[in-house]
Amino acid sequence: MDNPTRKTLLAVLAHPDDESFGMGGTLALYARQNVDVYLVCATRGEVGTVDPKFMAGFHSVAELREAELRCAAGHLCLAGVYFLDFRDSGMPGSPDNQHPQALAAQPLDEVAKKVADYIRKLRPQVVLTFDPIGGYKHPDHIAIQRATVKAFELAGDPALVSEYPPFQPSKLYFHVMPKGLFKAVVRLLPLLGQDPRRFGRNHDINLLDLVQDGDFPIHARINYRPVLEERDAAAACHASQTDGGPTRGPIRWVRLLLGTQDTFMRSFPPAAAGVREKDLFAGL
Ligand SMILES: [Zn+2]
Repeated sequence: MDNPTRKTLLAVLAHPDDESFGMGGTLALYARQNVDVYLVCATRGEVGTVDPKFMAGFHSVAELREAELRCAAGHLCLAGVYFLDFRDSGMPGSPDNQHPQALAAQPLDEVAKKVADYIRKLRPQVVLTFDPIGGYKHPDHIAIQRATVKAFELAGDPALVSEYPPFQPSKLYFHVMPKGLFKAVVRLLPLLGQDPRRFGRNHDINLLDLVQDGDFPIHARINYRPVLEERDAAAACHASQTDGGPTRGPIRWVRLLLGTQDTFMRSFPPAAAGVREKDLFAGL
């Protein structure tokens, strides 16, 4: 990171598994292209549902999920993983939202300052995070997205006091699920006897809602076919979150409907209509 010519990419996400299920293909692809790919993970997924069979050898869900993340980071070839040490907030309305350490309950400025410190320390040209609805409206995803947007500006602001000198990244992207995907799943689920308002392993995702609110423009498409095996191996590390394997659960849906492509909206610099990038470092 001391070499100014090194390409560096930073993903700022909320839970162990976000890095693999969401944009794992993109992270692995850039790592393979000799980019230094870092992850800042805000929590350790403390309130994830875990079958007791996965807990052998671990003292807590956090410990298990951190180990799963480190396994995934190995397959994705990440250059480093950093935790912000907040607590998983759970889905909207759960008592975990109120925990004093819950990410979603923290003041935006405090989380943003922590993220800005990592931006200054790691000096990425490109920063990735969730879209403004956090993909599927998880409160932690939304909280870290807002904090990252703020941190992107703060990091270059000399007025921010920190142990690292100011650094302004060049590009900020949001990982977005194409709206067509949600529409297709909403139509498909009732045929399978499932309720699209109660989607997912914990039945707490309202896909009808996401079709309404999740329509973001797509400015970049990254085809991660060359690293499909690495991405799948990383996803398989999160066995406690997939009921045993990457071929079941949400990952299967994503695979079926999206193929091997991650889609991103460019937040900064603002994208003119019709921008279609195939490389997040394009123009740098
Ligand atoms: Zn998450």
